[in-house]
Amino acid sequence: MEKTVYLDYAATTFVKPEVVEAMMPYYTKYFGNPSSLYSIARDTKNAIDESRAVVAKAINADRSEVYFTGGGCEADNWALKGIAFANKNKGNHIITTKIEHHAIEETCKFLARNGFEITYLSVDEEGFINLEELKNAITDKTILVSVMFANNEVGTIQPIKEIGAICKEKKVLFHTDAVQATGHVHIDVKEMNIDLLSMAAHKFYGPKGVGALYIRKGVKIDNLIHGGGQERGKRASTENIASIVGMGKALELALEHMKEDSERLTKLRDKLIDGIFEKIPYAKLNGSRGDKRMPGNVNFSFIGIEGEALLLLLDSEGICASTGSACASGSLDPSHVLLAMGLPHETAHGSLRLSLGEGSTEEDVDYVLEVLPKIVKRLRDMSPLWEDFLKRGDK
Ligand SMILES: *Cc1c(COP(=O)(O)O)cnc(C)c1O
Repeated sequence: MEKTVYLDYAATTFVKPEVVEAMMPYYTKYFGNPSSLYSIARDTKNAIDESRAVVAKAINADRSEVYFTGGGCEADNWALKGIAFANKNKGNHIITTKIEHHAIEETCKFLARNGFEITYLSVDEEGFINLEELKNAITDKTILVSVMFANNEVGTIQPIKEIGAICKEKKVLFHTDAVQATGHVHIDVKEMNIDLLSMAAHKFYGPKGVGALYIRKGVKIDNLIHGGGQERGKRASTENIASIVGMGKALELALEHMKEDSERLTKLRDKLIDGIFEKIPYAKLNGSRGDKRMPGNVNFSFIGIEGEALLLLLDSEGICASTGSACASGSLDPSHVLLAMGLPHETAHGSLRLSLGEGSTEEDVDYVLEVLPKIVKRLRDMSPLWEDFLKRGDK
């Protein structure tokens, strides 16, 4: 294929060359096991500590509160299972939302099969939870509230500080899956009263298979992975040193450029959104139009169209996009996020997520605005759903 326009940065990013460069010596030169006592091991131990300090600073935590994991899903699993099992004497009730990533959703289902009760908060049509509903859902059995920072499909950023304040007042722990948000928007675990926070390096130009869980000092949590004494006894397994170094470097770079990156992407995003509205009739933007939308997120539904067909035709024009979550894109189920936001089944099926990032340019946006309207028209011309819609008249 001659042209590739990658618009799936919310699924994963490339690794920045500076990050790869920082990682390389930790494969060949500094390979010592950090638990060993000779000097090449001290070098690797120090490198991990430095990376931990960067990650801690990025969210205003102490370095002793950051634990490296094997990615975002592991951090989410650990937060939920670790808190549930360590605090089950206090209660068995967990509150989350209907729009979480599968890592939270499936872990909650697992916990429900193991005696925990889960409340799923609803969201409004833009994907925001209702703070009153949250307050009313908390009982004396509630041990944990888990609400994602920013949604991976529609980019909605929750009122995290307000949620944190409610949890603090009601004395329940607050976890947030910040995998989409970390390195892209402002996070402060103190100001926002966050007790646990998940992140993953490959969503901010770091390597895949490495992430971290922030656990506030004093929070009682069980291990997810038992074994050796790594990560201060809380997460066994010989450290993935190069990846941990890469995560630190990537986050350092992301923070350095956060303001200008966010402004640039917001402009590109809005140009793409405005262009789609202008060129495609009956296009529905999913998520918020305000400033509580992730800078790089565009998500539309097109009445009369199947998301999968759209993706295949876009791919044949070199455009990499997604219907929502990467995990769902092998399946034909409509998005649980869009259904929770009140979209009817047929519209939830026809969604398209275009997520912009570091490599995205004005030309990419222009190219999509040239190609997408033609593809949507072509698919609609052969769609019985679209024919029905036109017969029913303007809705
Ligand atoms: C990508 C993602 C995850 C999973 O992270 P992995 O590193 O792929 O395990 C979890 N939550 C959200 C919101 C994500 O976007």
